[in-house]
Parts: sequence; structure tokens; C-alpha cells
Amino acid sequence: MKRILSLIVLIAMVFTMAACGSKTTGGKKGEKLVGIAMPTKSSQRWIDDGNNMVKEFEKLGYKTDLQYAEDVVENQISQIENMITKGVDALVIASIDGESLSDVLKKAADAKIPVIAYDRLIRKTPNVNYYATFDNFKVGVQQGSYIEKALGLKEGKGPFNIELFGGSPDDNNAYFFYDGAMSVLKPYIDSGKLVVKSGQMGMDKVSTLRWDGATAQARMDNLLSAYYTTDKIHAVLSPYDGISIGILSSLKGVGYGTQGQPMPVVTGQDAELPSVKSIIAGEQTQTVFKDTRQLAKKAVEMVDAVLNGKEPEVNDTKTYNNGVKVVPSYLLEPVSVDKSNYEEVLVGSGYYTKEQLEK
Ligand code: BGC
Repeated sequence: MKRILSLIVLIAMVFTMAACGSKTTGGKKGEKLVGIAMPTKSSQRWIDDGNNMVKEFEKLGYKTDLQYAEDVVENQISQIENMITKGVDALVIASIDGESLSDVLKKAADAKIPVIAYDRLIRKTPNVNYYATFDNFKVGVQQGSYIEKALGLKEGKGPFNIELFGGSPDDNNAYFFYDGAMSVLKPYIDSGKLVVKSGQMGMDKVSTLRWDGATAQARMDNLLSAYYTTDKIHAVLSPYDGISIGILSSLKGVGYGTQGQPMPVVTGQDAELPSVKSIIAGEQTQTVFKDTRQLAKKAVEMVDAVLNGKEPEVNDTKTYNNGVKVVPSYLLEPVSVDKSNYEEVLVGSGYYTKEQLEK
């Protein structure tokens, strides 16, 4: 009997130690654990974001729990729930649906876990402490301005035909990108120098659920067959490289990309490897580079400050109202990239090697 009892005590001890294990082993900074919830591995940028953060956190002695939800909202919610149960000290979240995390973040708040919104604003909750992102309106302005310049709109050229694509309607960023681009393009649409033959304008008409390239390709197929059988299209506003890939395949499908029928101007975002190669090959025209190394660093600095009782550095306390409060933010600078500067910006900064772009 005594032996059985001591065995039970031993087992209980082992279990207790194991339960504490994730939080109390390794690391210099009081051995803290940070939960990182990322949206999907289907886009390279989020893989890089996750890896960069793990690297930066480890440099400071933190442990991390990095999870991807493959763009399924319920997965992300349960991943965050698990992190809270595990006892993480802080959460960094790039949301899939920015309005779906209110309940789970209430649990985080009850457990006194600070939350950093990563790249995408988390909406409809008071329980988000800080926001690390890029100047999202500027991303759109850079896409719009690129089209303006490439078509010579400022010089009075036109009219040109254009179609507009927006990002995912559940992602706050998508509205900033669209509004930024339209701040440049709308005056030309109003004056008739840009013509949207489909008439499809506004995020309610042009959004692309979950930023899905195949969805964009299907919409582009429809637009081309309904409005561009005789007239040519000269520009496509695309908010993200994955969407641009879909648009470009659709255009190629009806014969664009040849001497007689050149590709229209097609924008993008994220400087993802296949799209930079497409730019070099003369298909996609432009992308917006957002250095995920810098963003990761910023988010990690924010967590480190909060966990040490300090105020993280922010540079915007006005723009990002999440419906409940203005979330103090740090906005990084996006950079417009095309064939003329990709080497300087992407290879020069060490983001890609020359060999990666040539392969
Ligand atoms: C990000 C973009 C990205 C898009 C699709 C947005 O929230 O800000 O960089 O292109 O999501 O992943």
C-alpha cells in the first residue's frame, strides 16, 4: 500500500513538473513564453514573419509557441485558446478575421495576458494592447501612384481601362489599401481618364475573400469575357501578390503578355519571391515591399517592453480605431518595387539573394 502511495505521489510530481515545463524551462528573461498566432502558410510572407519573430524572441531569451491556422477562423481561435491554457505570458496575433477574436481575447485579458496585433488590426475588442504594422494607407497610395505614373495620367494621357481588386473584407488592412489607392485613382475615374468598364467599384464589389488567388482569377476571367472582348485593359489594381498571380494567369489565358498584346500594368504587395520573378520576367509590373524582418523586430520589442513594465515605442495614436478604442500603433514604411529598383531594395537589403531571384 505504502509503495503504491509513493508511486502515486511520484507520478503526481512528474505531471506537475511537466505542466510547468513549457513555461519555466530555458530562456534568460525569466523564462517567458510567447504565443504567436499566424494566419496561413499559403503565403511566404507569413512563414517569414513567424520565423523572424521566433528568431528575435529567442535572441532575447524568450520561448515561443508558433501556430498557423491555414486561414480557418475557428482553428485560429482554438489555437489562441490553447496558448492561454498553456499559460503564455504574451500573445502576438495576425488575425484571419479581425472581428472574430473578441471572446477569446476576453479570456486572455482575464488571464492578464497582453496582446499585440501583428500587421492586421484586431477589431471590436478592448483587449488588444498595441499594434505593429506598416503604413497601410500608404501601401495603397503607392499602388495607385504607380498606375498613375506608368500610364502617364498626370501628363494628361488617357483614357485607359482599369479594373479594381480589393483584399479580404474581414481584414481591416484591405480597406486601408483600397482607400489609399483610390485616393490617387478616383479623380482620374471621375474625370474619365480612367474607365472601369465593369462599373465594379467599392470594397463591397471588388473584395477577395481570404486574399485567395483562385477567387481573383475567376473574377478576372468573368471581367475579361464580359467587358474586354474588343476593348483592351490597361491596368489592374491588385492589392496582393497572390491575387496578382491569379489575375496574370487569367490575362495570359486570353492572350495578354505578347508583343501585340502587352500585359496591362498590374500592381501587388509583399514582394513574394514568385512575384518578384514575375516582375523580372516582365509580367507583374509592381509590388510593395514590406520588410517582415523589421515588423517582427517591432512586435518583439513591443512584447519585451510590456512584459518589463515599460511603454513600447509607438508612432501613431490616431489612425487605428478598432471600433472600441484607438490602438496605439507603430507604423513601418512600405517601399514600392518594380524592375528598376528590385536589386537595390531587395537584394541590397539582404532580403533575397541574387541567386534566389535567378533560380
Ligand atoms: C497584409 C498584406 C498581405 C495580405 C494577404 C494583409 O493583411 O497586410 O501584406 O498581402 O494580408 O496575406
